[in-house]
Amino acid sequence: MPDEQMKLVIVEDSELISSHLLKMIAMQPRIRVIGVATEEEAAIRLILATGPDAVLLDLSLSPGSGIRVLSRIRAAGCAARVLVLTNNIEPELRNACLGLGVAGFFDKSFEAEQCMQQLFDWLAPLPANEDARLKAVNAVSSVVGADMAEQEVFDSLARLARVVTAMPMAAVSLVEKDRQRFLAHPGLQVQETSRSVTFCAHAILASELMEVPDALADARFCSNPLVLGAPHIRSYAGVPLVLPSGESLGALCVLDTVPRILTDAQKQALKTLAHSVVGEIELRRRVSELEVEVARRRIAEAQLLQVATRDPLTSLPNRIALHERLEQHVRLAHRHGDMLAFLFIDLDRFKLINDTLGHDVGDAALIEVAQRLTRTLRDSDTVARLGGDEFAVLLPEVGDADEAVQMAGKLVAALIEPAHLHGHRLHLNASIGVALYPGHGDSGEELMRNADLAMYQAKQSGSGRVCLFSPQLNQRSRDLLALENDLRDALQRNELLAYFQPQAVVGRAGVCGAEALVRWRHPHLGILGPDHFIRFAEERGFIQQIGRQMIDMALAQLATWDAEALHVPRIAVNVSALELRTGYAEMVEAALTRYGVPPHRLELEITESALAADAVGTLSMLARLRKLGVSISVDDFGVGYSSLGQLRRLPIDSLKIDQSFIAEIDSNAQDAAIVSAVVTMARGLGLRTVAEGAEKESHLAALQRLGCDCVQGYVLARPMPAAQFAEWVRNFGGVDVNGLLQAAPSATQPSPVASA
Ligand code: C2E
Ligand code: CA
Ligand code: CA
Repeated sequence: MPDEQMKLVIVEDSELISSHLLKMIAMQPRIRVIGVATEEEAAIRLILATGPDAVLLDLSLSPGSGIRVLSRIRAAGCAARVLVLTNNIEPELRNACLGLGVAGFFDKSFEAEQCMQQLFDWLAPLPANEDARLKAVNAVSSVVGADMAEQEVFDSLARLARVVTAMPMAAVSLVEKDRQRFLAHPGLQVQETSRSVTFCAHAILASELMEVPDALADARFCSNPLVLGAPHIRSYAGVPLVLPSGESLGALCVLDTVPRILTDAQKQALKTLAHSVVGEIELRRRVSELEVEVARRRIAEAQLLQVATRDPLTSLPNRIALHERLEQHVRLAHRHGDMLAFLFIDLDRFKLINDTLGHDVGDAALIEVAQRLTRTLRDSDTVARLGGDEFAVLLPEVGDADEAVQMAGKLVAALIEPAHLHGHRLHLNASIGVALYPGHGDSGEELMRNADLAMYQAKQSGSGRVCLFSPQLNQRSRDLLALENDLRDALQRNELLAYFQPQAVVGRAGVCGAEALVRWRHPHLGILGPDHFIRFAEERGFIQQIGRQMIDMALAQLATWDAEALHVPRIAVNVSALELRTGYAEMVEAALTRYGVPPHRLELEITESALAADAVGTLSMLARLRKLGVSISVDDFGVGYSSLGQLRRLPIDSLKIDQSFIAEIDSNAQDAAIVSAVVTMARGLGLRTVAEGAEKESHLAALQRLGCDCVQGYVLARPMPAAQFAEWVRNFGGVDVNGLLQAAPSATQPSPVASA
């Protein structure tokens, strides 16, 4: 919306003069030049087409004549204010001009400024609170006068004003920024006028009532186009419409074509009616505010409901929504004798993704999981996110247990496809527990709990597994759950201890090191292996503490053996990727110093899958540790996803070939070929190789043939407490562990054998 209040046309054939005028007007934001014409015909066309509020007119045009412009636009009904620009004017011409309603004469060489001032004087002054006032007007404009019923209210008030004052015209006006708009205007043809010609723009400045008994006798209005032309206003009375907050919106006014003076009673009646108009406007405004408020609340409630029942990250139903749906479906299944299945889904090692690759990647992975689950299921099934890395699926109609387990298997398969997220290639894997209705619970809650137990069991047996609930699970899981809670206390009470398993040089009777393996001496259950608690410790954030205790125990033990002159060249400690955080290198360094162990005698084993996650933090931490002089070993090598080529960039010293390649190395040519390739490549990169899980002498024979450096496994000894380990080392050289260890006593280096 343009903000000027007066639209001006200039008719002037001297470019010098018109450009001078234009410059002066440009400084006047309330006046805008809507056109400049230099000759008669163009001037008439311009004025009649644009309907300006005022015209600056040069009388001597070439070609044409100013007076002809004037008479022709008047003849066409244009009542715009006209100021004549002239040098000197003859009395006859002057009279002719006055007869055509010219409002002033200015010498174009000397009086340009006075001419401007006259234009400006016609604009009603702006109220002091104009900004606030306009805001109020806009607010009212947008809510008032929209429907017919409202129109009628204002119309009847205006008609009443007409009756009580006995004036032929009345209006309820809003004075907007650049124009005046009527909410009602009985007796008046015009719908709106520009602000510069309106009486009401003056009335809004009045405190109570503005009366113009004779417009022709009033300098502000005598040249007003509404006075000189239609509707030929001669007298006016208006009461400002003032809101309780002080802003004057417009006026309730009455108008006549003859001079009039209102009686006091009429004035009072007009004020009372104006008060009613304001009351009506206020009412509309409140109603509309209420409507907005109601709409806002409705949206807020909908959002609340969304927040309350949807998971914001994945937009899946959340635990609350799922709970409700599950109970509902249990009731339905009960009534119709149907079977339903509830699947509890937990991502495997999700914490690792989150902690090593960052929360952005973790979030993206969760969204990916949500999409894959949804895609794999039917529309009638429900997928929900229970929180963290836990999801759930409700299958409302399944034929039997097999079908439910098959569906769970399908979901695992859908997740396992590699996902490319934020430049990482991730393998998402999940464990799923399945519970059925009827059979595994009578309520939604019980189904959920039992599916959770089954999921836990699935996790225990490895990753990517599905487990159907069975009543026996209940007891076992309860025990395991109790175990987890005990772990917190175990760390406080120093119930953890280290077992040691020897590593020997292949083909020689020499110990090359020991791996420290954590054990938990449980007060009631005896010695527990790490399978029972390491994963839980990683998930619950206990793993750092366990790692610290293991480093401490291992180094303390090595120092003790040194003091006892027991030769153990190196001690290996397992490290979870979650431990490799700020401060880890310092902790290791401090422990080495504390026990006086040279760094090269400590080896840290980190699994290949943790390395494959390729977290920058992990790699730089390993590089720092290696700089300290600590040796780094890749655990479970071969089962992860790192390519052999990738090893080149890793800061490592040795590879521990995974047990699964060793188990059949003596009989399976393919496994033997893999180990052979790994050994050859490792040697090329200057890495040591350790085969783990050698259980039989035939394994040792194969390993020697393939050129593996060291071996660890039950064939030598099981992990054992420190005292027993020392005993074993002392006897090692003399004991006939197997024929091989004595068969090649002279070999100083394992001989590389490439063929398999
Ligand atoms: P790992 O690092 O691969 O450790 C080797 C596992 O293989 C040990 O199981 C060991 O007892 C077992 N083993 C050794 N020789 C043989 C064999 O000839 N045949 C068979 N079948 N198994 C053999 P353990 O002690 O139960 O440890 C299991 C896993 O727990 C370890 O796998 C390691 O990943 C983890 N772990 C153990 N101690 C710690 C620790 O202090 N910190 C962390 N973060 N993880 C640990
Ligand atoms: Ca290990
Ligand atoms: Ca291993």
